[in-house]
Amino acid sequence: MNSVLERADLATLWLLGNPVSHSLSPLIQNRALQQLGSKAVYLAARVEEENFESVVRALPKLGAVGANVTVPHKERAFRVCDRVSDRAQAMGAVNTLLFRGQEIYGDNTDGAGWWRSLGQRCFERAVVIGAGGAARAVCYTLLTQGVSRLALLNRTLSRAEALRSELSSATPDGGRIEVFSLDRFPELLQSNTLVVQTTSVGLEGDLSPVPLPESLPTGVLLSELIYARTTALMACFQELGGEVQDGLGMLCAQGAESLALWLGLEFEEIPLQMMLEVARERVLGARDV
Ligand code: NAP
Repeated sequence: MNSVLERADLATLWLLGNPVSHSLSPLIQNRALQQLGSKAVYLAARVEEENFESVVRALPKLGAVGANVTVPHKERAFRVCDRVSDRAQAMGAVNTLLFRGQEIYGDNTDGAGWWRSLGQRCFERAVVIGAGGAARAVCYTLLTQGVSRLALLNRTLSRAEALRSELSSATPDGGRIEVFSLDRFPELLQSNTLVVQTTSVGLEGDLSPVPLPESLPTGVLLSELIYARTTALMACFQELGGEVQDGLGMLCAQGAESLALWLGLEFEEIPLQMMLEVARERVLGARDV
């Protein structure tokens, strides 16, 4: 890394968010850049709300190639862009900025990254817990990938209803979404169902956003977006013999999608497996401390 920093023709990539100090993105992106022999370096910056737009506008003037945007700035980033991809338009949020001459272009790799982390497997039915930004990316992706029934559960029902109506206009089959309260979860579990847990409940402690089921039908997969810990819902599914995946795969794959865009590479050229391994190693190491 030091030899890269000594270059006078360094290209920069950024993570803009608040907070950013916990983020694994600088680790996984810099390792990937190193492996690809790139002259770029990826840096994280904590940016206050009121400074976000001026920071974004200054970056291309400093020769930056692009940036990732994380909580709480994804909607703000969408508004700063001159042009956005169709998927960013549908999500109303941008997590990847590309600086192309005078133009600020925005994309959103969250849904595609999440889908890749699942191995792009198809399910007939999906149950999505939560209706925030992450749920929007997941639901949009599920609808465009042809899921036939989608149950959307949220604490605040009006927020889930709003998401359903937004997606109805953004995707051809937005009408396949049905909204439920969180307590309906156990009865919605049928065989061959994908469950996606997108709320922030479980980031700490042993709370679950939904009542824990007492048994599981066959072929149920839980995709938990939280990573670096086993949530109560994950532990329950594991105990009942269900398949469980945490959010580390999504984190790495959305980052790999962004990197491919910035560097103009095919996704397959990005060393995703290595990114996953260093991220997993860091997370396990932090747990042992
Ligand atoms: P967000 O837009 O703020 O949405 C938060 C969601 O959590 C809403 O559905 C909210 O319900 C629900 N919630 C919060 N507190 C709750 C509680 N006490 N009981 C029940 N529901 C509660 O956040 P987001 O951007 O979607 O992120 C959500 C989670 O996904 C975070 O844990 C984040 O770390 C994770 N995530 C992971 C990745 C990854 O790469 N693995 C990427 C993106 C996000 P209400 O509408 O009722 O408030």
